[in-house]
Amino acid sequence: MKLQESAFHPDTFNRSDKCRTRNCSGRAEQKCERLGGCQSSDLERSPLPRSGGSLENSVWKADFQPLPACQGIIGFGPHNFWPCCLRSGYSAAVTELRWPTISGHPSGKSVLTDLNHVAHQDIGSRRDRAWWIDYVLLAAPTFSTPMLLWAENYVGVGHPSRLVLIGGTAWIMSALILVAMRHVGAPRTISVVGVWSSAYVFMRGGTLVQTLGYGFALLATVAVILGLCFLLSRRTERLQEVLLVLASALLTVEVIVAWYMSIDSLGDDHAQPPPPEIEMTLQSKPDIVLIVADAYVGLDGLERYFGVSDPAWKNQLLGQGFTVPDVAYSPYVSTSAAIPAILDMAYPIEGGPGITKATSRTLYERIGGDNRAVRILSSNGYQTTMIESGWSGSACGDQIDKCVPSPFLNESTFFTLNKTWVGPWVLAQYGYSFTVGALNTMTWLQENLGVITQDSKPDLVIAHMEIPHPPLFLDSECNLDTSPDRSGVTLQWPGVDLDSRKEAYLEQAACFDGFIQSLAKSVSDDSLLLIVSDHGSDSHHQLALHPAEWSEDAMRERLNVMFAYRGLNECKVEEPVLLTNVLRDVLECLADTRIANHEPRMFLYSVLEFDGEPSPIVELSPVVVDKLLGQ
Ligand SMILES: [Zn+2]
Repeated sequence: MKLQESAFHPDTFNRSDKCRTRNCSGRAEQKCERLGGCQSSDLERSPLPRSGGSLENSVWKADFQPLPACQGIIGFGPHNFWPCCLRSGYSAAVTELRWPTISGHPSGKSVLTDLNHVAHQDIGSRRDRAWWIDYVLLAAPTFSTPMLLWAENYVGVGHPSRLVLIGGTAWIMSALILVAMRHVGAPRTISVVGVWSSAYVFMRGGTLVQTLGYGFALLATVAVILGLCFLLSRRTERLQEVLLVLASALLTVEVIVAWYMSIDSLGDDHAQPPPPEIEMTLQSKPDIVLIVADAYVGLDGLERYFGVSDPAWKNQLLGQGFTVPDVAYSPYVSTSAAIPAILDMAYPIEGGPGITKATSRTLYERIGGDNRAVRILSSNGYQTTMIESGWSGSACGDQIDKCVPSPFLNESTFFTLNKTWVGPWVLAQYGYSFTVGALNTMTWLQENLGVITQDSKPDLVIAHMEIPHPPLFLDSECNLDTSPDRSGVTLQWPGVDLDSRKEAYLEQAACFDGFIQSLAKSVSDDSLLLIVSDHGSDSHHQLALHPAEWSEDAMRERLNVMFAYRGLNECKVEEPVLLTNVLRDVLECLADTRIANHEPRMFLYSVLEFDGEPSPIVELSPVVVDKLLGQ
């Protein structure tokens, strides 16, 4: 038997759509009527008997007959109904079917519309789509993780658009799954709850996967999602409210609280004001390439703490025309102050309060181009190219003419992805943002530096690379090895096998050595190549110590740095080398004018907080500085 088309004209059902999605059955009906959805006139227009609509006596019974796979299952109730009908391919007919509806409940119009699907699927298919609000609310589980990371670290997040991209991709995929579920006829409640909870677990499940492994984590997740679907599908009238509360908690409360706490802990900016400008006219304008190998300990440290005397790289670089000073030191124990010291040729922080977030922000701006070296060279016609490292502190600022952005997997995207289900996979596949960034920088320089240094314009190229800084995922041939014993961003902490970590550190350093040797071949001799480290290594676990507790070895290892240069012709960088003075000596040589050198100064601090405050910064006495410098 076929239903008459006129009885199922869309107009008849438009109003009941609203009604049904608010679930005008049982307890929710009163509310629904207030909203104007469930008027009795709707029902009266229906050809179905308003009561007594049992399976036995209605016209619509016939239209259920084409669902053979569902026969015999209908008696178990609506929740068992749809998977069966899903298989049978007739699911659209019964998606919203509720048992009370069939057995004569006043909202029999639901059944009516269901029947409509059987007879005229095009007319009724509208209701199988989820509401637009379902898709809007899906933004909460998909965007909350990246937004939370942004809120917590908004001072140091490079490329926040990448976080939006991660959230957006997850949202599009979730929305497509929701569309598909509705398309095959899964009930709205189950679809929405299922997709919502899956999206949340996907975006936050990194720890779960790390703990249980993918197999068990998947089982646990499926069990939880099925349980949630089961519970919530019986309380459909509350679905929208529940989702709204969850969405608000995730997006508004969580993100705003994190953002507020982040603002609240900014602290005061203790960075020194920018040093006075230096007017310089360069007589000679070679291309200048500054490569910073992060945490590469110097010759003295290699011998004392790694048992490597007269390292192979030194002799190879000497053979390629480099000068390799015996003694080179950094004034600071961390990148955020050491690179500004190199580029500003000054001391960006001094003894006293520690590096607050506000201080870091200023230091990052100086790394990103707001420094004297870039200004002096720009005013002399240099074009500045900066290659971002993947560490959030080295991001190009406005002063950079040509920026080579970090790969997509920078620190902020790595941390965001690490919170998600794909985190362990990303870790195994790519290591860390430092590793990805260093590989990217090496490839870029090998492909482009020859070209840049061959044209007639003077160039300044700044590349900060986060190797041999841990994690130690690159072997001596720069192949990726992401085994767990190479992970961690410090060399030592209690319980690790320090000897094998030192070996891995030397391997990663050898990767850098090989890269420099091959790069030096592709760059002409008249370019100035400066290979420098920002600070040394940390096998004494010194970064966790209060500065008052650092031994002399701890200081020496962390402040002693690798340094080599080529192309300065008859000039020399004054020895013993202090990083603050390297570019001074270089610019003096090129300009043929003298600038008074600063007295060497050095500062210690920890990366930890003490009494809720960043570690204080302690300046070493001149006697200790002289001793370290071997004077
Ligand atoms: Zn560093």
